[in-house]
Amino acid sequence: MQVSEILKAWNKILKGERPSLSIEITRECPLRCPGCYAYEDSHLGGGVTLRELNDRKGQELVDGVMEVVDRLKPLHLSIVGGDPLVRYRELQIMVPLLLARGVHVQIVTSAFRALPPAWAALPRLNVVVSIDGLRPEHDLRRKPATYERIMQNIAGQRITIHCTITGQMMKRPGYLHEFLTFWTPRPEIHKIWFSLFTPQIGHDLPEILTGEERSQVIVELLQLRKKFPKLDMPEGLIRQIASPPHNPQDCVFALTTQTISADLKTKITPCQFGGNPDCRSCGCIASMGLAAVAAHKLGGFLPVGAIFKASVKLGQLRSKQPPEQPQQTPALRVLP
Ligand code: SF4
Ligand code: SF4
Repeated sequence: MQVSEILKAWNKILKGERPSLSIEITRECPLRCPGCYAYEDSHLGGGVTLRELNDRKGQELVDGVMEVVDRLKPLHLSIVGGDPLVRYRELQIMVPLLLARGVHVQIVTSAFRALPPAWAALPRLNVVVSIDGLRPEHDLRRKPATYERIMQNIAGQRITIHCTITGQMMKRPGYLHEFLTFWTPRPEIHKIWFSLFTPQIGHDLPEILTGEERSQVIVELLQLRKKFPKLDMPEGLIRQIASPPHNPQDCVFALTTQTISADLKTKITPCQFGGNPDCRSCGCIASMGLAAVAAHKLGGFLPVGAIFKASVKLGQLRSKQPPEQPQQTPALRVLP
């Protein structure tokens, strides 16, 4: 991120606004992945579920997304679903409009269908393809977006792979190494990110990593990042996996990102997982990345996180105050 972008983000925080926005543009997804948080009953707070929400299509969806973006003016927009490629015609219209407004756009998809060829050359667009494990496990979890389909559908593109590490993967030694060995030589792959499976509080699933498995992930990623330069995870971010935020109020990512569901109204809280996520077991790369920035000490002693928290508080106080009235008479006249 450039200094000018950091200053813009900080300015928004000081105004009580969030610099990042995430929109679930559709309730539909052709996949049925086990452990998918988007379709959990509690995702939208326990009333209506994502599948029951009224979503939009066609020009109505394009106009709706542009209205939200023009109103909230995010610096970064993550387009998720369901699977956003369900609305690929709308995306082909929407993406250039968003980029023309200077917004950084990220599309998170399973790549169950071919990505539009024009996307390969668009600046400030990052397409993130979810690939959850090696071929046998991935194909079982994520069909019809199988390895074979993904490799066809990303041909000629420049994508980021995102893989969610599960407890099952860590029970097999060398799994992450094998994953990187398969994907990194491919020319379409620009970067690879790993997150750890993040459960809801009280869940007991085989995907959840034990404490030892989390520690093992850290050890392996610290070694693998040296061997595979496409593994785009700095050391500080990887080490942050050992100390995730205690709750959403401690999570820089949750405090700086607003998430909206498919009716373009319903807010998803406290973060993109919705429901009641177990922050102490969180392994979301975005949360870890921003936590690593917050842990950085300016001048070797002043933690960025302390400045950030003070800025958020100030922004929240300012946004609660009534808007300033234009001054009729200057309080202090310096010039005659
Ligand atoms: S592709 Fe994503 S939204 Fe669709 S079922 Fe899988 S995890 Fe859920
Ligand atoms: S991203 Fe992780 S740490 Fe942040 S609020 Fe969500 S579950 Fe908690």
